Amino acid sequence: MSGYSCRKCGEACAINMRQHRLALCENDFIEWVRKHTAEFIAKHRMIEPDDRVLVAVSGGKDSLALWSILLDLGFRADGLHIDLGIEGGNGYSERSRQYARRFADGISPGTVLHILNVRDIYGKSVPELARKGVRGRKKFCSACGLVKRHEMNRTARELGYTVLVTGHNLDDEAAVLLGNVLHWETEYMARQLPVLQGNDSGLIKRAKPFARFYERETAAYAIVSGIDYMPDECPFSHGATSLGYKEILNSMENQSPGTKLKFYFEFLRAKKKGLLQGYTPAELRQCGKCGEVTGSSGLCAFCRLIERARLP
Ligand code: AMP
Ligand code: ZN
Repeated sequence: MSGYSCRKCGEACAINMRQHRLALCENDFIEWVRKHTAEFIAKHRMIEPDDRVLVAVSGGKDSLALWSILLDLGFRADGLHIDLGIEGGNGYSERSRQYARRFADGISPGTVLHILNVRDIYGKSVPELARKGVRGRKKFCSACGLVKRHEMNRTARELGYTVLVTGHNLDDEAAVLLGNVLHWETEYMARQLPVLQGNDSGLIKRAKPFARFYERETAAYAIVSGIDYMPDECPFSHGATSLGYKEILNSMENQSPGTKLKFYFEFLRAKKKGLLQGYTPAELRQCGKCGEVTGSSGLCAFCRLIERARLP
C-alpha cells in the first residue's frame, strides 16, 4: 500500500503508523492491536478474570472491534445496544441496530446482545426528549450522552455486570481533553481516565480499553478483520464541536505525528503525579426517582430531562 514492508515479517505493509514509526502487514497488525488491548487492560486493571463485562455496542467500528477482541482474549463479554430512535440519516438508529444484531448473530453461541429501545421504555425517542428538554444541536448531543450513560449504567447494574466498557478511542479522548482544557473544566479533567472505579451506590466500573488507539487504527482493524460495521456518523453530529476539535488535532498530528498520543498520555501521567489533585468531583448520591448515581441534590439530570419532556 505505502511501499513500506512489515517490520515483523518483511511482507507488504498494510498500515504505516507514523506516530509509532511502525509499519505492519495485515496479520501482524491484527496481532499488534490484540496484544496492546490486552496490555492496556492489564496495565489499568480494567477487567479482572471473574468480571462480567457489558460492552456498549453502537454498531460502529470501535465498539464492534472491541467486543470481538474481548471475546478473542477470553473475557466473558455481552453486548448492549441502545436504540435511540434517530430516524434522520436514512434511519440511522434502525440501521445501527441491524449492524449490531448481525455482528452478534455471527459470534459464538451463548454471547448475548441486549437491545434496549428508549421510546419503548420512556415513551419518547432521544430526538423527542432532546427537543422538549433542551434546544440546539449541541444540547442534543449532551442529552443523547446523558441518556446513553444513564441507560448503560442502569442496565449493567440491574443485570449484574461488573464492568461496563465503551469503544472510545484516542481521537475521542484527545478531543474531549482539548475541549476541557479550552474551558478549564477541571472537574471533568479530574474524572477523565481510561478507567473509573464503581462504588457501593450502584455506579458500575467503566473502562475504555481502546483509548490508546488512534481512530485510524481501530478503523483499519475493523476492515482487515472483516467486521461489517455501520459506516455513517450520527446525522446530529454534523458541525459538532467535538468534530471541530478532532479536525484541529488531526491537522496538528499531520504536521507532527504522535501529537494526539502525547497530549493524552502526558495528561494522564501529569495527573498521576498530582496535577488536579483536590479537584474531586461533587459527592455522589442516589437519585430519589430512578436510583441511579448522581451529583445533584434533587432528581438526577436524566429524570429531569424525562420530566420536562412529559410536560404539555
Ligand atoms: P460515541 O459517543 O457515539 O462516539 O460512542 C462512543 C462509545 O459509546 C461507542 O464506542 C460505544 O461503546 C458507545 N455507544 C455509542 N452509541 C451507542 C448506542 N447507541 N448503544 C450502545 N452503545 C453506544
Ligand atoms: Zn434519576
